Amino acid sequence: MITLKEALSLNDEEILSLREEITTKIEDQKSLGAYIEQLTSNKISSITAGIPIAIKDNINVKGTSLTCSSNILKGYISPYNATVIDNLEKAGLCAFGRTNMDEFAMGSSTESSCYGKTLNPVDNTKVPGGSSGGSAAAVAAGLAVAALGTDTGGSIRQPAAYCGCVGMKPTYGRVSRYGIAAYSSSLDQCGPITQNVEDAAILYDIISGYDPKDSTSANREYPAVAPLLDSTKKMTIAVIDNFISEADDEIKKGFEVAIQSLKDAGHTIVHKNMMDTKKHVSAYYVVATAEASANLSRYDGIRYGNRVEGKNLSETYLKTKSEGFGEEVQKRIMLGSFVLSSGYYDAYYIKAQKVRHLIKDDFEEIFKEADLILSPVAPTTAPKFGSFKSSLEMYLSDIYTISVNLAGLPAISLPVAKDKDGMPIGLQLIGKAFEEQTLFDGAMSLEKSVNYIK
Ligand code: GLN
Repeated sequence: MITLKEALSLNDEEILSLREEITTKIEDQKSLGAYIEQLTSNKISSITAGIPIAIKDNINVKGTSLTCSSNILKGYISPYNATVIDNLEKAGLCAFGRTNMDEFAMGSSTESSCYGKTLNPVDNTKVPGGSSGGSAAAVAAGLAVAALGTDTGGSIRQPAAYCGCVGMKPTYGRVSRYGIAAYSSSLDQCGPITQNVEDAAILYDIISGYDPKDSTSANREYPAVAPLLDSTKKMTIAVIDNFISEADDEIKKGFEVAIQSLKDAGHTIVHKNMMDTKKHVSAYYVVATAEASANLSRYDGIRYGNRVEGKNLSETYLKTKSEGFGEEVQKRIMLGSFVLSSGYYDAYYIKAQKVRHLIKDDFEEIFKEADLILSPVAPTTAPKFGSFKSSLEMYLSDIYTISVNLAGLPAISLPVAKDKDGMPIGLQLIGKAFEEQTLFDGAMSLEKSVNYIK
């Protein structure tokens, strides 16, 4: 598939034929389950087609269906565009297809979608990761020039790592959340999934920027990062020793390859430690479920999507939510309601917020000495379907990604090597808040020095 950079220089007719080519490919590879559907905005009436971008099913595109891969939202049609979609259109790009995801972005494997699973294009017996599994699979399979995903605790970086593409989570506040279905509002960020680092920078530039419609949007001015990309800058990169010890041997091997490549490229490696990652997981699953329980209360069968009628209003609520939400989502709403309930609020929610601050402090301490942090994205490469025997097992696979969201930092994952079965090993670089330029420069240097062949 041509890159986004290349696509940006196509004329209208070439873009139209690119769209046709992708449509045929999607039809041929339907069994991959990356796309839920093609969007109606794809039916172009004029020649101004727009470069086709795959869009996760939790981002509003005016006049098209939006379900967050949940039965509860089936039938809902977006009345407006998310700001990121407006930004795409301003730059000559356009929403092209809906990609599959874990229901309401809760999950790490795209197995919890009401549409069924998406397969990993590298090995169809393995998960593509999640929750933006459809977006990553679409890019990895050559079914999209690039895609948008969302990342609350790793949902862009981890599927990108499992499928062998690049996934970037911007600093909290850098990309507008307006028009993106909220999972955990203080953690969610939208970002690019692309074929390479440069494309990620280009798409990041296009979607980011201050948006008065999002009260958490950062009102700051930044020059675009893509035109200034420089892979020759020498940096100090920290590795967190107690992080690595929890990864399996294949990931450790990939990590060594990356460290050696970074040293060869002239970067300095420093060794650090951080709070036990199990505490990150506990804090994240308290904060995320608490916010989710509040955010998802709006899906009551009255205002959005599906309704299952009961004898009275409370029975309608009960039936709609019981039948509309899947098991994992119901579990999280209950967990979130519990940690916010009187008597438990101090013991769980307040404590988790305190841990969140400590995590932020840990990062600040490391960034006094380092420009970037290199870390695994997940403890293993993509596992087989059905590998997670319990929700808890799945939650523990998020140990490396969630602290980044709790601290609001930018991070980018990219493939650096392959495991013995040929599955991609993705690693992430984590940057200082609002220092995306340094993050992309470092990622480009790593990409060049490891020279990963798909
Ligand atoms: N796997 C994490 C969760 O289930 C992260 C999901 C995400 O980033 N949306 O919450």
